[in-house]
Amino acid sequence: MNPKTVKDYIRSIHDFPHEGIIFRDVTTLFADARGFRMAVDQLLHGFAGARIDKVAGLEARGFILGGAVAHQLSTGFVPIRKKGKLPGAVISEAYELEYGEAVMEIHDDALQPGERVLIVDDLLATGGTAEAGIKLCTRLGAEVIGCAFVIDLPELGGRKRLEEMGMPIHTLTQFE
Ligand code: 5GP
Repeated sequence: MNPKTVKDYIRSIHDFPHEGIIFRDVTTLFADARGFRMAVDQLLHGFAGARIDKVAGLEARGFILGGAVAHQLSTGFVPIRKKGKLPGAVISEAYELEYGEAVMEIHDDALQPGERVLIVDDLLATGGTAEAGIKLCTRLGAEVIGCAFVIDLPELGGRKRLEEMGMPIHTLTQFE
C-alpha cells in the first residue's frame, strides 16, 4: 500500500460554511504528527536554498503552518491579520470578496526594508488574501520571495493571479 500523502489527511466537509460549498478542512492534517511534519517539510522544499529573513502567516491557519515553517528555518514570524485584531500601529489593505470586501493588516514595524519574506497560508483560492498580504509586506519595503500553500484550488485562479504579479508560488496539492 502506498504511504499517505498530504492530500490524504485533508478532510472535505460539505455545505460549510454555506450550502453548496465543500470546505477543505486541514485540522485533520494538523492533528496527525506525520501529516503535519510532511506538510511543513514540503512547504519548505519549494524554497530550499533561498535566503529567507522572516515568515509571514495569513490569519488564521497560516499562523499554524507559518509558525512551524519559521521555527524550522530559525526565522522570525509575522502575523498578517484581519482588521482590528493587531494591537499596535498597523497598515491596512482592502481586497474584494465574492460579496463585499475584507481588510488585512500588519504591524507597521513588523518588517524592515530589504527583508526577504516567505508568505504562508493553508489554501489558495482567488488569491485575494495572499495579494493583500504581498502588498502589505511590499509597502513596508520588504521583498516577498514567494508564497507557499498546502492547497491550490486552480479553478478559482489564485495561482495565475499571483504568478502574473511575478510571484513564485509553491503548493502541495490541488482540489477541483
Ligand atoms: P482567497 O483569498 O485565495 O480567495 O481565499 C483564501 C483564504 O480563504 C485562505 O486564507 C483560506 O484559509 C480561506 N479558505 C477559503 N476556502 C477554504 C477552504 O475550503 N478550506 C480552508 N482550509 N480554507 C479556506
